[in-house]
Order: sequence, then C-alpha cells, then structure tokens
Amino acid sequence: MSVCSFCEIEEKEFWGSSFCKTCSSIKNIAKVYSFEKSLEILRKVCLRNETQLENNIKRELENKRSSII
Ligand SMILES: [Zn+2]
Repeated sequence: MSVCSFCEIEEKEFWGSSFCKTCSSIKNIAKVYSFEKSLEILRKVCLRNETQLENNIKRELENKRSSII
C-alpha cells in the first residue's frame, strides 16, 4: 500500500482510499465543524507566538519553584 496523501507518513487506510485512519478521522471531524473552523481551532490551540511561549515557560518555572518551596 502507499502512504497517506495528507500526513505522508502512515499507510492508507484501505485500497482506494487517499488517507490513513487518523487523517480520515481528522477529515471527518473537519467536515462536521467546517475546515475553516477546524483550522482556526488548531491555530488557537496548537500554535503559539513568542509571547505565549514565554508565558508558558514563566508559568512552568513558577510551578516548579512553588513545588520546591
Ligand atoms: Zn495520514
């Protein structure tokens, strides 16, 4: 079998399909919520800008500091 057309890593779910099982699930979820809304959610949840990354690092350091004290 050949690799998934979306992730280009996993094998296709079955002969004649274009996607692996995981990407088929992602596609089906995106069909339900719309691709635009799904992309918006992914960007908001998964992508972080520099300020957000710095805040995450500060928060993590504070958590470690408070657990030591
Ligand atoms: Zn895939």
